Formats: sequence, C-alpha cells, structure tokens
Amino acid sequence: MAEHKILLTEAELPTHWYNVIPDLPSPPAPYVGPDGAPVPPEAMQAIFPPGIIEQEVSQERWIAIPEPVREALALWRPSPLYRALNLEKALGTPAKIYYKYEGVSPSGSHKPNSAVAQAYYNQQAGIKRLTTETGAGQWGSSLALAGQMFGLEVRIYMVKVSYEQKPFRRSMMETWGGEVIPSPSSLTETGKAALAKDPDNPGSLGLAISEAVEEAAGRADTNYALGSVLNHVLLHQTIIGQETKAALAKVGDYPDVVLAPCGGGSNVGGMMFPFLADKAAGKDIRLVAVEPSSCPTLTRGHYAYDYGDSAGHTPIMKMYTLGHDFMPPGIHAGGLRYHGDSALVSQLYDKGILEAVAVPQIATFQAGVEFARAEGIIPAPESCHSVRGAIDEALRAKEEGKEKTILFTLSGHGHFDMAAYDKYFAGELEDFEYPADAIDQALHNLPKVGT
Ligand SMILES: *Cc1c(COP(=O)(O)O)cnc(C)c1O
Repeated sequence: MAEHKILLTEAELPTHWYNVIPDLPSPPAPYVGPDGAPVPPEAMQAIFPPGIIEQEVSQERWIAIPEPVREALALWRPSPLYRALNLEKALGTPAKIYYKYEGVSPSGSHKPNSAVAQAYYNQQAGIKRLTTETGAGQWGSSLALAGQMFGLEVRIYMVKVSYEQKPFRRSMMETWGGEVIPSPSSLTETGKAALAKDPDNPGSLGLAISEAVEEAAGRADTNYALGSVLNHVLLHQTIIGQETKAALAKVGDYPDVVLAPCGGGSNVGGMMFPFLADKAAGKDIRLVAVEPSSCPTLTRGHYAYDYGDSAGHTPIMKMYTLGHDFMPPGIHAGGLRYHGDSALVSQLYDKGILEAVAVPQIATFQAGVEFARAEGIIPAPESCHSVRGAIDEALRAKEEGKEKTILFTLSGHGHFDMAAYDKYFAGELEDFEYPADAIDQALHNLPKVGT
C-alpha cells in the first residue's frame, strides 16, 4: 500500500546548503548603485553581518550549516513529504502527486529556515537588534521566533493594511517577543515623508523595507533581515529541495515537473536549485514557478535593473520587475505581491531553465479549497498558487492519459489567513489581470543604469 508520508530522521537533516552561483550558466550581474557602479560587498556591512555578506557572493558550491542552526532547524525538520493520494483520487488523475509540507514550522511556513540562519550570523557578529518588514505576517513572525531563539530583539514594520486586518499575526510576533510597528510610521524619514503626502497611506512591502533598512543603517547595534529575494535567503531554503530528493529516493521516485509558489523566489530557489544539476545532466524535468496574474512579475514584468524597495535605499539588481513603485491591486488577497524577484531566479528564467505560469486568484482559492477537502491541510493563500499549478498539471495528465509525477511545495498553512478564504467564500474576490499600460509605465520609472 502506498504511504501518505515519507519521513526522514533528524540525523538526515542536510549538513550543507547548496549554492547555485558556481553552477549558473554565467556569473550573476553585480548589484549596482545609482551611478551604475557595482556595489562592493563591504557596502552591505551597515545592515548585514559578515557571515551573511559572504554567503551573498560566495562561489562555494556547498556551505556547511553551523551546528546551532541545524539544532534550531531540528525543532521542526526534516519536514514531511506527502504523497497526495486523496487528491489524486478526487481528481481521478493517473498522475502521482507529491507535496513537501513546510507548514510544520512553529510559524507555519518555510520562512524560519532562513530566519534562524540569519539570526545566528547576526548574534555571532555581536548584533543586538534586527529590523525587518512583513506583509502577510509570515516573515515577521518567523524572524520574531528566530530572534527569540538566538537572543536578539526584533522590530517588525508591518504593512499598515495587514496590521489592521491581521491582529492575530501581530499577537503571534509579540508572543515571541517581537515589536510590531504599522508602516508607514513616523519612526523613519521615509515613513514621515509617505505620511506627509498621504496620511491614509495603506503601506506597501517596498515602503516597509525602506523603513526597516533606514533604521538598521542608522544604528550600529541593529541589522536588517530580509525574508526572500536575496541570494543568501534562497541558499538557506535549499534544505527543502535536498530533503525532498532524499525522501523521493527512499520510495524510488523522481518528479517530471516541480512547482512552487513565487513571490520573491525563496520557495522556487529552495525547492528547485537542488534539482538543477540533474537537469543540466540531461534529466527531463520541468521546474515551474507559479505566480498570481494580478502581480505577474516573471510572466509579464521587465528583465531590468531596479531597486528592491520603493524609496530606492537598496542596491539596484538585475531582475524581473513590475517597477519598484508597483502597488498591488487592492482586490488582491493571495499574497505574493512583491514587485520584483530574486536575481538568481530571474536569470535562470531568462535562460529558459525555469518556467513560470500566472494563475488568476479565484481559481487559486478554488484549488486551495479542493486540496483542503481532499488532504485536510488548509494551504496558505500563497501556497494555493502551487496547488493550482499542480492540479492543472494533474488534470492535463488525465486528459492526455499520461502517468507522470508531479511535485510541489506546500509552503505553509493558512490558519492566520482565513480572512482571505472568507472573501473567496463570500464571492468578494475578482480576477484581475494587471493592466499592460501600468506595466509599460513602470519601465519609465526604472533607474537609468546598466542598460
Ligand atoms: C513568503 C511566502 C511565500 C512567497 O515567498 P517566496 O520567497 O516567493 O517563496 C510563499 N508561501 C508562503 C507560505 C510564504 O510565507
């Protein structure tokens, strides 16, 4: 009888992170300043500890995971790989479906995988406080947890609409000792300027990043931590793909197609990078990022140099972008609303090594509900994107009468995001194709470098 769960022991927790940089077809484009000159790694010292800066630019393929980080990870890892037997039956598909479930972490998503590593390297560097931003609340709660584990204070700038709509996310961060500030706030120059322009500014992820970076850059005892996009974050998440490969090997299986939700790219990198060497060696495997059609960064954005935040405090990175001044449509409930994407994921997508699809939000929540009714777990709205992608693959297999093996990342559970499901059940969600003229307009506001 096929089993629902494939489990690894704690001793099988990976010992190294996999760094994709030495295996890229060409070196990544350097981060640059507004003058177009490359930003030297030392310039990041104002906000990141040396261990993290090293990883951001490392050429080493395998980087050892420090023992205290492995111990922290072992609280919830290795995470289970599930065979979605009930969903397969419900869909009547000949395909096999596997999902790696990252919702078993204390904060309910994959994000603590990087949060504990970042907290560790900051503690090692003598840093006392971390600042960060959070939108839906997953990253903020993960960093609050990690800060608690490694003895650091954590201040979280939370996008104001989310702060008001998700009081329990705030309680969660406070339970782990985090301090939560609605953004824009009057604690930073960026926040004050935004409030002066519009006192009712609902906030955005880009704006909250600007506030957190501004504070960290201005205080010696404080650093900044980012939950996605940057190379070191994707590096930390590669334990997901490594564990998945080890678990699949136990049952003698291998995927034909791998899907992950894509906002800033840490699930995509974390799950897919460990499969790239096999693909380069000739394995016939498709790697597909799934994003919302209302924030279609990879499928419709420009591959260009852009800022990582709305105020232009961060270095300029070559990435797929909708423009750093992108504001997600108010109707969008499914997360994954960042304007850009990881430079590494962008580069691999540009080369055709990774694929991407955009899915409309009603169908996305429909897939989440279908999944919950078959498998029990209620997916986070972000995770519903990869569920949608996987169900579409399984239905195509059924139509074509083909057996194939589908693997996806179920990046978290949705227990704190039921308001989004409420909107879906109440019929309040609309599908929204991000307008082409807004995408063209974004081109005009990109920094004029590196072209
Ligand atoms: C943050 C988050 C995502 C999106 O981030 P990526 O870096 O693109 O993976 C997806 N799912 C969950 C549950 C998240 O918390």
